[in-house]
Amino acid sequence: MDATISVDRSAVVAGVQVKTGLYVGGRWRASEDASWFDVVDPSTGKVIAAVADATPSDAIAALGSAAAAQASWGRSSARRRAEILRAAFEAVTARREEFASVITAEMGRPYAQSLGEVDYGAEFLRWFAEQAAHVHGEFAASPNGDFTIATTRVPVGPSLLITPWNFPLAMGTRKIGAALAAGCTVIVKPAEQTPLTMALLVDVLAQAGVPDGVVNFVPTTRAADQSETLMRDARLRKVSFTGSTPVGSRLLEQAARNVMRSSMELGGNGPFLVLRDADVPSAVNGAMVAKFRNGGQSCVAANRFIVHEAVAEEFIEGLVKRTSALVVADGTAPVADIGPLIDDRQRQRVQRLVDDAVASGAQLHTGGWALPGDGYFYAPTVLTHVPVSAPIMREEVFGPVATVTVAASDDDAIDLANDTPFGLVAFVYTQNMARALDATSRLDAGMIGVNRGLVSEAGAPFGGTKASGLGREGGHTGIDEYLETKYLAIDTTVPA
Ligand code: NAD
Repeated sequence: MDATISVDRSAVVAGVQVKTGLYVGGRWRASEDASWFDVVDPSTGKVIAAVADATPSDAIAALGSAAAAQASWGRSSARRRAEILRAAFEAVTARREEFASVITAEMGRPYAQSLGEVDYGAEFLRWFAEQAAHVHGEFAASPNGDFTIATTRVPVGPSLLITPWNFPLAMGTRKIGAALAAGCTVIVKPAEQTPLTMALLVDVLAQAGVPDGVVNFVPTTRAADQSETLMRDARLRKVSFTGSTPVGSRLLEQAARNVMRSSMELGGNGPFLVLRDADVPSAVNGAMVAKFRNGGQSCVAANRFIVHEAVAEEFIEGLVKRTSALVVADGTAPVADIGPLIDDRQRQRVQRLVDDAVASGAQLHTGGWALPGDGYFYAPTVLTHVPVSAPIMREEVFGPVATVTVAASDDDAIDLANDTPFGLVAFVYTQNMARALDATSRLDAGMIGVNRGLVSEAGAPFGGTKASGLGREGGHTGIDEYLETKYLAIDTTVPA
């Protein structure tokens, strides 16, 4: 390797030492063209670190390392892989405050919620440690009884894992845990806004015993060039992406060229239904979690509240009261309920969606404005009387803005809920279990919260229908995304 790029730089972020290079073949290093990019704290707008900016050829070097390590990692015992993942779980848990501080520094989320993400993210390492040794095949007679069918599961191979900024740890562990448990080597590409949390995770994985070349880390500002280059290389066998639907469909087109296995966790437009016999105070509690966790910057956020007219007044009054009481502050402030949006571009987008809605007749009950100052803060907002055609009803808001639509019947509510190209998550509140089951059977979504505002759980299958994606992460089937089935036809005829 060129001596000039073999550097081991780090930065102190919120009191935590974080490596800031690329990690390729078991070595931290600068990018080939020695370029670095700034990471900004969205609470202050200030630069907190500079991270190596991988070139496409750095990514190819990462793929070379992953491909070279694949055979031995894929053949290593499941028990060994499980124990490494378990050690990583213990290490992340032991350092939960450090991870939470880095998450809050680079994406602004209130510290208590960042601790919640660390616990959730660490769970994927534990879950997939437990799954690794439970991958089974079959052994059966063929239907005619003239030979034996044996199946075994084998790793897909080197996998590209691309993650978003909104859950910078958990979106990494959900993919890395499953891939490593299955015996795949990986190239990890974090979002450019939040590479530091993933850098810390990669360091922890290396210390937990992940062999050189098994996990490679290539943060970049040149995401499109990087994926275009990597996905032309037939050594790459899998892409797993979490992010927006337009980028996901572009990656699927690229994956088609080499007929590459693909998992896509894409955008949502989650409806939150409050049916006529819902317990309204608990629906309001659930709404606060579903809408305002992570400042609304979640793919499983409630995007549209659809409320039966019998309970609409009470629900809107409760939602507006609780929303106006939310404290918007720097994520390090213990009082903060809501931190900043990720950047000014996203804040302007949210403002535009709210302005459009108000211009088309929506009623603003609280919020609707950007807070002054250096950070990218936006006031928690509630709108009613929004036309169904308004952009805020069609697009994912990704901010602390709730829209409430009143439905004349439960059937209307379900029709409105399904009127979207997305199908990631839905929520339904009702005290009548038969009505709840009827609604869940008619709602077109991969995940449905019943009298709950939160569905995320390492032991459950996470994923969507329609434009929200392909495949499921987490749960018993999460590991399947990284496994192929190999079938052996064994002639068992006894020679005469
Ligand atoms: P994004 O699509 O802009 O970026 C996601 C990742 O893709 C980032 O790492 C980015 O650098 C990379 N990227 C961007 N363009 C690329 C390209 N041409 N080729 C390869 N990679 C590219 O999304 P975002 O704004 O970072 O994240 C928000 C989106 O992610 C929302 O739509 C949200 O719903 C979705 N999301 C989905 C889930 C899920 O599990 N379904 C979870 C979290 C976020």
